[in-house]
Amino acid sequence: MDVIRRENPARVAEVVGRVPVTDADGVDAAVRRAGEARREWAARPIGERVAVLWEAAEAVSGRAGELAVLLARESGKPLADCRGEISFALTYLRWVCDNAPRVLAPAEIDDAAGRLVVRRAPYGVVGCVTPWNAPVILAMVKLAPALAAGNAVVLKPSPLAPLAVSEVAAALPAVEVVHGGAPAGRALVTHPAVRKVAFTGGDAAGREIAAAAGSMLTPSVMELGGNDPAIFLPDFALSGDDYERLVMATFATSGQVCMAAKRLYVPRARVAEFTEAYTAAAERVLVVGDPLTPGVTMGPVISGPAADRIRALVAGSLSRGGTAVPLGRAVGDLESGYFVTPTLVTGLDDQAPLVTEEQFGPAVPLLPYDTEKELPARANAGDLGLAASVWSADEDRAFDLAARLEAGYVFVNTHNRTGMSLRAPFGGVKRSGYGREYGEEGLLEYVQSAVVHAPAAFRDGGAGLPATAYPA
Ligand code: NAD
Repeated sequence: MDVIRRENPARVAEVVGRVPVTDADGVDAAVRRAGEARREWAARPIGERVAVLWEAAEAVSGRAGELAVLLARESGKPLADCRGEISFALTYLRWVCDNAPRVLAPAEIDDAAGRLVVRRAPYGVVGCVTPWNAPVILAMVKLAPALAAGNAVVLKPSPLAPLAVSEVAAALPAVEVVHGGAPAGRALVTHPAVRKVAFTGGDAAGREIAAAAGSMLTPSVMELGGNDPAIFLPDFALSGDDYERLVMATFATSGQVCMAAKRLYVPRARVAEFTEAYTAAAERVLVVGDPLTPGVTMGPVISGPAADRIRALVAGSLSRGGTAVPLGRAVGDLESGYFVTPTLVTGLDDQAPLVTEEQFGPAVPLLPYDTEKELPARANAGDLGLAASVWSADEDRAFDLAARLEAGYVFVNTHNRTGMSLRAPFGGVKRSGYGREYGEEGLLEYVQSAVVHAPAAFRDGGAGLPATAYPA
């Protein structure tokens, strides 16, 4: 049996753990087991299901410290971030437990002509394929609502961070985990007994999975990449703390976050002031090193190819006339891992690959503008539309521009995790995907409406419909 050996991206000689690769027969067996588990699970009242999920949250919470260390070692994310990810995943699971019974309750339509009930029916077995950059929370935003609704789940995490999320999934009922790369993912999303597919990841895999699921008429939710602009209006007023938050909005998880600030639009007249304050803030808060070293805020990137890709994007930027400004401070040995120097790049045109592509790594372009009129078109350029941010001393002005941005989520005076809300739907527009996670919409993603109707015309004493009648 093939095995995935996951190395520590901060010390690549160290193997953090191993998981077996699941072949097509193994995926089939996992889907069948999930199908069996789901019969008993779906038959339970939702109150019982959320009670079981709540207990699972308690069990994982008791192991959160140990799981955070495992997550840091397999993903290269700083330990504090890993603790935060696990705690946020449990907060979200509890939010689902609190809200699913209300949101997924059958709704009675006030229909004078009879009894008309809309049930929220689970799909059956849901197939989830997830990435490595936030493996626990990105699985939990699928698992929690799917399970609360009465589905069973087969999860295929990324082979680049399969360990901590497998431990979390093992604490949940009606969940099977399969391992491997694209072949295991394909076997899962094309399995005839999988009734819904939930995917988070890159554009290329997303297109292939959406097409494969579509060929089976299996509905899907797609959370894909973003190339998110952070726009500073001419009146922006940032404190030192704001600059620090902004720096981390790009460089948390070494820039490998779908909704990271990936393009910075700054009024030309204030570029010098911005650059100086930004680099000073980075010097204070951006500490590159081993994820387990206290005080480190940026670890390595996920793999050798990812490091090569980012370095090539920066080198290509220099050859187009750009200037690289290295940021932050390094601590300890950076030679043994996939470390990339965090970099601000200035002097680029809008056609530079670092501007047009999702870099998904620790390099960000600073792009001056002359008039606010340029902003919507420049910010909306390209196919992606996940998130964006607008920074202004005048909140109304920021909201006005936000309404003209093609993005599923616009942050005002912050960006990235600090602007998320469990209660709000999250997802992309344009080629950043479809369907939503979080909020009530994220719960409704895992049910289908199923109506039960007893028309008054045919109930006791009803006269029936006239032969010519058509329901109005
Ligand atoms: P990826 O697309 O390479 O892989 C994601 C998952 O899909 C992995 O489990 C992988 O094994 C699997 N996979 C890859 N090809 C497949 C195929 N053809 N069929 C079935 N499964 C397949 O993405 P990644 O490198 O793990 O993650 C980075 C991308 O994810 C970035 O583009 C990022 O923006 C995006 N992302 C989006 C969100 C969001 O919420 N919108 C969140 C995090 C990451």
